[in-house]
Amino acid sequence: MSGKERLPVTGAQGDLLRLVATGQAESRAELARLSGLAASSVSLRVEELRDAGLLVEEGSGTSRGGRRPRRLRLSPSAGVLTVADLGAHHVRLGLLDLSGTPLAVQEREADITAGPEAVLDWLADAFDDLLETHAPPGVPLRGVGTGIPGPVDPATGRVVGPSRMPGWNNFPVADHLRARYDLPVLVENDANLMAVGEARSWPGADNLMVLKAGTGIGCGVVVNGRLHRGRGAAGDISHVRVRTDSSIVCACGHRDCLEAYASGAALQAALAEAGIAVERPAYIVGLVDDAVPEATSLVRTAGRMIGEVLTVLVNFFNPDVIAVGGSLAAAEPLIASIRAAVYERCLPLATRELEIAPARAGQDAALLGGGALLLDAVL
Ligand SMILES: [Zn+2]
Repeated sequence: MSGKERLPVTGAQGDLLRLVATGQAESRAELARLSGLAASSVSLRVEELRDAGLLVEEGSGTSRGGRRPRRLRLSPSAGVLTVADLGAHHVRLGLLDLSGTPLAVQEREADITAGPEAVLDWLADAFDDLLETHAPPGVPLRGVGTGIPGPVDPATGRVVGPSRMPGWNNFPVADHLRARYDLPVLVENDANLMAVGEARSWPGADNLMVLKAGTGIGCGVVVNGRLHRGRGAAGDISHVRVRTDSSIVCACGHRDCLEAYASGAALQAALAEAGIAVERPAYIVGLVDDAVPEATSLVRTAGRMIGEVLTVLVNFFNPDVIAVGGSLAAAEPLIASIRAAVYERCLPLATRELEIAPARAGQDAALLGGGALLLDAVL
């Protein structure tokens, strides 16, 4: 057998491989403890996985005295994954090894309004480019994934009812990519990917809401350490109705959705009306840093509205952490006003240990999350 062994590996072998890939086990003894298998059958299967080129056992692991156990990890030649975090204006591309560690990350300009076929074919070309340039020679591609800045039906991998994505509604993104790659394909809402990546930066927090404040507004929900998708729309707070004095019709056709007031796209439009042209929502942060009063005031109002929506959710779900990421998260008044709204209105028991903070995982959060979810599909 060779490193090109077909995945997934099923049964007990697959279980052991996943325990190593996710970092839960790094020795045969830990595998035996976590899997409940006898030491002898763990050893047999580890040998098979080594022979298949999927696991390597190296040097010394950590041990208290005595002979040091050898450390198990996924073989660097077992495979690579390509993952994209597709935004309205740019895409972040990652080449990851099977343990989810990025080998190379690139950012490119992209225009999601060009429609699904053009964007996805371009994306696949960019993946091929990344593989050719950065993948270790002879190491097979095992899976392909992308985040989408809109709602995704997890059962079909189709985009359903997105805003600002003309031509994408009901497009079979997963099928389109699978036709090109014939490999496991992950298609997931971008905020969900970010939530999975971000959750790894909060050890000890089991329940998180990860808000993505960018061109749109998204939220990923992690319950007991796992992504909660519901039927696909879980965490989608963009079309929750907010209380305002004015009235704006949202892209979805309803009035006064959160997104119509508090998304980066909405702030950009409001600034344009005030005679301040901003090429991209992300640049609003710069205006806030420069103390442009219109920008600061709009961001503060957006934070309050987001915070008011979150008060309901915090009382209901009672998370440990609300992490705020996305291109607007760096605008300090945004998080300050979210905090103010939540702490003022929520039950003391709900906020006593609640942390509302900027996201920690950085710009690669969605890629890391994509790698972790894709690994589940691959192994
Ligand atoms: Zn709406």
